[in-house]
Amino acid sequence: MLSWPAPLLPTLPGTGSVLKVHDTARGEVVPTTPDRTARMYVCGITPYDATHLGHAATYLAFDLVNRVWRDAGHAVHYVQNVTDIDDPLLERADRDGEDWVVLAMRETALFREDMTALRVLPPEDYVGAVESIPRVVAHIETLLDEGLAYVLDDGTGDVYHDISQAPGFGSESRYDEATMLRFFAERGGDPDRAGKRQPLDPVLWRGARPGEPSWPGPRGTAGRPGWHIECAAIALDTIGMGFDVQGGGSDLIFPHHEYSAVHAEALTAAASGEKGPFARAYVHAAMIGLDGEKMSKSRGNLVFVSKLRGEGVDPMAIRLALLSGHYRTDRAWTPALLREAQERLGTWRRAVAQDTGAPAGPVLHGLRDRLADDLDSPGAIAVVDAWAAATIAGTGEQEEQAPAIVCDAVDALLGVALDSCAEAPALQDG
Ligand code: ZN
Repeated sequence: MLSWPAPLLPTLPGTGSVLKVHDTARGEVVPTTPDRTARMYVCGITPYDATHLGHAATYLAFDLVNRVWRDAGHAVHYVQNVTDIDDPLLERADRDGEDWVVLAMRETALFREDMTALRVLPPEDYVGAVESIPRVVAHIETLLDEGLAYVLDDGTGDVYHDISQAPGFGSESRYDEATMLRFFAERGGDPDRAGKRQPLDPVLWRGARPGEPSWPGPRGTAGRPGWHIECAAIALDTIGMGFDVQGGGSDLIFPHHEYSAVHAEALTAAASGEKGPFARAYVHAAMIGLDGEKMSKSRGNLVFVSKLRGEGVDPMAIRLALLSGHYRTDRAWTPALLREAQERLGTWRRAVAQDTGAPAGPVLHGLRDRLADDLDSPGAIAVVDAWAAATIAGTGEQEEQAPAIVCDAVDALLGVALDSCAEAPALQDG
């Protein structure tokens, strides 16, 4: 699938620090330990509706991971999926009397536009569920061959993973069984389905139902893939086991990331005997709320990135507003938050347009230090605020190159383009 265009990424003097992130599986902030090429998988959208601010906040958090790694000298192999076949997509298409393919293509295109406007670095591999079906089917066949999966005995052709044979089950979320059962029921699982071996067994393949699209499947049974095996298959086939960061919203901790991990770990053990983990760190972004409730499709209280853009809101102000809170803190979207970000953006742009500025070295150091510390974006923003205030006041030591360097640093590390100075360094150096 087509990704989106990459924004320019300025190279900064010196090198950034080792990134530390909060790993859900260990329950603490840990250093990431990437090889020369860092590997990250972030779960993508189900394209039945536009990108809301909750989605945007998640992709911005992992965009910071990408930027901090690159600044520390790593290449980054970033993978994201598009769940372009699943129940919610078919339900929405059915409700609106629209072709599900057209709906998926339109919303995926809009997502690309939103990500481009927000200056999110694109994934190297942007992979759809539908295009992955042959690989998913091969993986399900393996699980069936190994006796780790079973076909339900009711003629539907549905295939489930036998979770009693997955030793690592529960190690990603660390939830107890009661919590797992509750989230499983709330988030698309089917604990009460008759004929399953265990209530928490997840579906791998859903046999064809009348009126639904289907593809050739395992054991010759037409149908469509489950969501968790989709991400396991795409990750295994692009960046392999033991990659550095598995990312998503906190509502993916369970069941989605738990099951993707146990599917992949079972497949890898079957293929090579190699043990997991699927990812070295499972990193989760908190939820964005509106009027006291989590912003979610089921509640219908959504603020769309595209709608704000349509109203003429600068995408850089949206970006700054979302980054003004820490990625692991549930937080509210308010008109005041956006206003504050717009004012801040104006101040920063005035500061980088000055002929001289307060010293850039401490800003570069401060930005790197704050972001490497579990993506402390509010701390990073405070560093730039202080520099902008000192620069506009013109008091204390002033450096000629500082505005251009800070402009690049804010762009490269926070992803906020302060366009008025974008060309300044090259012209002055030339
Ligand atoms: Zn996923």
